[in-house]
Amino acid sequence: MQDFGENIQQAHNEKLGRHLVAAINIEPGDTLLEERPLLVAPHWECHQLKCAQCLQESYVMCRRCQVFPLCMDCGQHDDFECEFFASGAGKAICKDILVKNYGICGLLKLLLLLDNPETKGDCQGLVETPINLSDYRDGEGMWQEHEELVVRPLMESGLVAVLPAQQLTSDTLHAHCIRIDSNSFEVTARDGDTLKGVFVCGASLPHSCVPNTVVALDEQFNMKLYAAVCLQPGDIIYNSYTNPLMGTSQRQHQLRLSRRLECSCSRCLDPTEMGTHMSSMKCRECEGGFSVCEIEPNGRLGDWRCPDCGALLTAAEVHELQAEVGAALVEARGELQVYESLLTQYGPLLHPNHFMLLDIKQNIASILRAAALMNSMEQPCKKLLARRVELCSDLLPVCRAVVPGISKLYAIGLFEYLLALVELVELQFAESDLNKKEYAHLRTASLVAKEAMDLLRFEPENSAEGYLSDRIAMELERIESDLKKYGR
Ligand SMILES: [Zn+2]
Ligand SMILES: [Zn+2]
Ligand SMILES: [Zn+2]
Ligand SMILES: [Zn+2]
Repeated sequence: MQDFGENIQQAHNEKLGRHLVAAINIEPGDTLLEERPLLVAPHWECHQLKCAQCLQESYVMCRRCQVFPLCMDCGQHDDFECEFFASGAGKAICKDILVKNYGICGLLKLLLLLDNPETKGDCQGLVETPINLSDYRDGEGMWQEHEELVVRPLMESGLVAVLPAQQLTSDTLHAHCIRIDSNSFEVTARDGDTLKGVFVCGASLPHSCVPNTVVALDEQFNMKLYAAVCLQPGDIIYNSYTNPLMGTSQRQHQLRLSRRLECSCSRCLDPTEMGTHMSSMKCRECEGGFSVCEIEPNGRLGDWRCPDCGALLTAAEVHELQAEVGAALVEARGELQVYESLLTQYGPLLHPNHFMLLDIKQNIASILRAAALMNSMEQPCKKLLARRVELCSDLLPVCRAVVPGISKLYAIGLFEYLLALVELVELQFAESDLNKKEYAHLRTASLVAKEAMDLLRFEPENSAEGYLSDRIAMELERIESDLKKYGR
């Protein structure tokens, strides 16, 4: 049973079932929940053997059980899972089970945790979650992937027969796969590979596209959930399981696929998406108008209409255009000129903040960044760097609006903007061409660095965000010394 501390408590209602609410007044940054992962596992499609203990790449097998990979740095892995194959019930199972089907690793670990009397209780919150298999059976992709990579190999391995107490059928295995997927956060191993960290409590929070919390994950895969905004007693604790830089129809599509969820959060019910207009189209009839998606009282998305002139743009027309831009984005394959021409082609049809334009702009900014880093363009000229500053700054107001309060998304947006500014100013230094305007860039950079560090101050030191914060601190030091050198 999880101890929630004094900040939050459990509650229950019809719509959400069991959930968590604030127990007292909570300030942004206050910790709400700390949790160790129930298990960390590779993605189902992973074929790269990884150490059972630290999850880094490893081709050596544990000498004792000869089933789980174990790297040179790790002397042992979970005693129960090792013993199970070394001398226990699993002895009869082929030692190659993981070598041949590494994708089963996550589910195998869960089944062993359930078989171990000492850890069985830790899994209860997870395995008690009811799963309606008929929702998934005919769905896109996921069922088939589970069936081929996990369920069938496990059913054929003989494991089911040696775990009789669990009465495993292929349906129970499918349900476990879905539970693992919907209770995991992406975590990063020390070698940079992404993995699934399964968190019984932290990853089962109800979803809102406007979450009031931030999830922090350190290098040991420990999770800390902290408040993004002020919370009052009784406020429901939400997390977000979608990308905030997608438009409403895309977020909803993703939530339906991954979590069988119909979202009706404040952003999903707001045609302007919190004033950002991330899904709005330019009106085809009037000058300066924007068509916004009409949302029915039940939350269903309708057609697009211009509030200024009343002109209608059907949902089908909008979806067709979005599909066209989406396909063009796939085709662009990192070609700078192609992205720039997409911007010219579709800019006049979409709101400047439309999520697809933002996507194109992000692509351009990162190509310019990579090019500047690799110096592949002869002398990254001022014009290109200035273009990157402009693109990065375009993204900021949207990042700020869609994730209120403490926001990693906004912090990372600020960091990209900061780098763009600093690289531009450095070039100007080199050309000793620093006038008043460029000096102002340096001042802006200093403010941006401080704001980004302020947003990252609740992140653990030993996390990607912690290291990012150190990096920004170094930039800030340089900026401050430049300001002194050239400043008044
Ligand atoms: Zn290891
Ligand atoms: Zn072992
Ligand atoms: Zn929503
Ligand atoms: Zn209009």
